[in-house]
Amino acid sequence: MRQNAAIEPGGTIGILGGGQLGRMTALAAARLGYRCHVFCPERDSPAGLVTPFATIADYGDRAALQRFAASVDVITFEFENVPADTAEFLAGLKPVRPGPDALRVAQDRLKEKDFLRSIDIPTTRYQEVTSADALIRAVRDIGPQCVLKTVRMGYDGKGQVMIRPDTDLADAWRKVGGAVAILEGFVDFTCEVSVIVARGANGAWATYVPVENQHVHHILDTTIAPARVAPEIAMRAEAIARHVADQLNLVGLLAVEMFVTAGGDVLVNEIAPRPHNSGHWTIDACATSQFEQLVRAICGLPLGSPERHADAVMKNLIGADIAKWRDALGDPAARLHLYGKDKARPGRKMGHVTRLLPRR
Ligand code: AMP
Repeated sequence: MRQNAAIEPGGTIGILGGGQLGRMTALAAARLGYRCHVFCPERDSPAGLVTPFATIADYGDRAALQRFAASVDVITFEFENVPADTAEFLAGLKPVRPGPDALRVAQDRLKEKDFLRSIDIPTTRYQEVTSADALIRAVRDIGPQCVLKTVRMGYDGKGQVMIRPDTDLADAWRKVGGAVAILEGFVDFTCEVSVIVARGANGAWATYVPVENQHVHHILDTTIAPARVAPEIAMRAEAIARHVADQLNLVGLLAVEMFVTAGGDVLVNEIAPRPHNSGHWTIDACATSQFEQLVRAICGLPLGSPERHADAVMKNLIGADIAKWRDALGDPAARLHLYGKDKARPGRKMGHVTRLLPRR
């Protein structure tokens, strides 16, 4: 198959990962006439429940990966902790979009910050930390208010310790597991925003309006679309997201999370080369959802309009919040999305509700 030939409806998309992002990608793909084949280690995953084509195997199972690759036309991933070696192996067999390079950058907080710095994107101050002594030195350099994070496998606040002047640094070092870590200066932000950009193989892009994200216990709770920031800040945030996507030569979706400060700085916190929780509102409020945009980008179809026909507030249903699903049914402005997960553990994203509002 030629690298740039479009994969037309009827083709099969392989998705690494079985979570809700894969589920909503598979649903968007189905609407456009594609099949999806989900590869993940878990049985009855949210994505696996919406398609008959699923492989349940470890990401290191080469024979299973080979069979998976043979059954699909293009491969994408729905979470960035898929081992980069797995993506690399698959890339030798079928197009993987976004490619393994974007994955390697996004799954390592140090590589990510170094990359951003190399392309002149502002971030908070940071330093690599490899020992308890190095942590003491780094806190001296960066300041008494900072955040210590594991370099790998951290998400939703996992592997993070807030450091204040009275924090016991030896204890903080133990809490992040004593592996390689990154110390970041604490950003006293006025709000957190994110921008999702879709980029096609031909370099065309479609950018969603910046949205405002409110976290509770480090987990996204609410997204307000659009973000309540000055037009100049919104334009800068969009330009940053496009620049990062271009520099990664990314084909697919990129979400860029940023802090906005009182002084008007826009600092990138992290990037994710996949659909993002802060883009779920696009399903109900935009001409083309982030999930459809991903399908279009990786299949070589023209991108759709990211224009919104309504403003929106998206609220995650986390853990026991799932019990509120009935409330959404009687509200004509609410769109309910449930992920088919059976156990409502604390911190687990079970679904979300998007409420549509007249466009400002
Ligand atoms: P992360 O896992 O890096 O996305 O962090 C989760 C949340 O922790 C962010 O959305 C922020 O609310 C907070 N956070 C992370 N890093 C910093 C920082 N350097 N300064 C202030 N807050 C932070």
